Amino acid sequence: MIIGRSTVSGKEGSVKAIDPSRNEQIEPAFGLASQAELDLACKLADEAFDRYRETTPEQRAKFLETIADRITDLGATLIERAMQETGLPQARLEGERGRTCNQLRLFAKVVRDGRYLSATLDSALPDRAPAPRSDIRLRKIGLGPVAVFGASNFPLAFSVAGGDTASALAAGCPVIVKAHSAHLGTSELVAKAVQQAAIECDMPEGVFSMLIGSGQTIGQNLVSNPAIKAVGFTGSRAGGVALMKTAAAREEPIPVYAEMSSINPVFFLEGALASNEKLPQQFADSLTLGAGQFCTNPGLLIAIDSPALDKFLEGTKVALAAKGAATMLTPGIHSAYNKGVAQLAGIEGVSLIAQGKTSEVPCGAVAALYETSGEHFLAKPELEGEIFGPTSLLIRVKDEAQLVAVAEHVEGQLTAAVHATGNDIAVAKKLLPTLERKAGRILFNGFGTGVEVSHAMVHGGPFPSTSDSRSTSVGASAIDRFLRPVSYQDVPAELLPAALDSANSLGIPRVVDGELVLK
Ligand code: NAP
Repeated sequence: MIIGRSTVSGKEGSVKAIDPSRNEQIEPAFGLASQAELDLACKLADEAFDRYRETTPEQRAKFLETIADRITDLGATLIERAMQETGLPQARLEGERGRTCNQLRLFAKVVRDGRYLSATLDSALPDRAPAPRSDIRLRKIGLGPVAVFGASNFPLAFSVAGGDTASALAAGCPVIVKAHSAHLGTSELVAKAVQQAAIECDMPEGVFSMLIGSGQTIGQNLVSNPAIKAVGFTGSRAGGVALMKTAAAREEPIPVYAEMSSINPVFFLEGALASNEKLPQQFADSLTLGAGQFCTNPGLLIAIDSPALDKFLEGTKVALAAKGAATMLTPGIHSAYNKGVAQLAGIEGVSLIAQGKTSEVPCGAVAALYETSGEHFLAKPELEGEIFGPTSLLIRVKDEAQLVAVAEHVEGQLTAAVHATGNDIAVAKKLLPTLERKAGRILFNGFGTGVEVSHAMVHGGPFPSTSDSRSTSVGASAIDRFLRPVSYQDVPAELLPAALDSANSLGIPRVVDGELVLK
């Protein structure tokens, strides 16, 4: 583990990572955190907060960029360990490393730009009648130390130095990561890179720590610790909800930004089904990307009964039959997948339409598409559960009204996709207001897999896709989750933070007496 400037082997027993492609443990053993070690990481983070949040934008941006550089320096060692621990292929992990470093650099830009501070100045109006107005200035500051739970399916981009960590550090919050037990060696390598960057950039000691231990004990105790002021989580609905409850039950409740469960409905409208011959292949590719272990995986298809739909299904049978069984991230995720598929197949009114190749590889996921009717789907809530992996359910609806009824029926989602051509626009228009209420991202003529890290991206959505639909975990706005506004009323000039001084010494965009002033 990394606790501030120290590298520590936990004292509460040990655990080894598993190579899912062989279903065997791999060396070395990692020590599990004791309560004393957890408390020390929290104490250091608490002590670091005031100094870290007042680092200059340049210092903080440089720190984020140096983390990216040190991760890049890990070279093939990082990729090889991540391949061993996750079963993910080299090209995917190299791409993910690039995304991780780009995210860190994006947040460095966000920090230098300064708009995230929402610096706002209302001048004093001493002569105003009937009462004078004070000088009031607003800026945002970090919430405090943030606990981050890395995701199993993004061992780099949503783990130790992933999106949650990058956005929290950018906001001026120290971070304590609870390493995901599915990729401990990968976590150790990245945590050391962050620690190295913190030392090089002369950051306060507790700005970053990483603990190893089970979610049920160390994870829960971390969220209960009074020093922690917010939580970033990506994982299962059960894990996210458990952490929400813990955070809410604290003497001082804190926000939890949990990204959990989404089945990402895809609406195939008739014109698009009839005119896009590539659709079956595009769907099969999206469904099986990363062995179906994407939070934006197309788990639900909805289409009106028609000859065009039957033709699409014929094409999908061929496209899926060519897909091999890919290794899943962990034996646990693999057995949960098989259990979920078996449960779905056993529900009355559900039939198998298309299937990928079976195989004997340990943890190999066989892709599948099942079908049911609109009536069945609307009557059976169990058909809406997420199956994490390459299985999707097609709802064959009888008409436009039932199509909209299904859209109304589904829970909150990360994404909703609509395939539509010119003739379909009228139906799409009826769907859109519902989809806006249900999803964080609405896309046309594509699939949600592949999330751009950019300024306008929203990777969030109503419960259960996330615990708080007002925010995003991907893209520049992710920084807002870890900030809160503070007003400074008649504060003497020499005590004002640089972001609010009258000379605008940071040269950041600010709102002055209601007008945007760029520099
Ligand atoms: P998970 O079991 O929820 O684990 C995620 C992290 O939370 C791990 O570090 C885990 O600790 C910890 N944790 C789990 N239960 C906890 C609890 N009750 N209290 C405190 N901490 C807890 O998820 P996973 O194994 O990574 O992934 C499997 C499932 O997550 C999938 O089936 C899928 O539904 C969902 N998922 C969703 C997304 C998304 O973006 N929406 C992404 C990936 C996965 P341990 O290390 O001890 O297990």
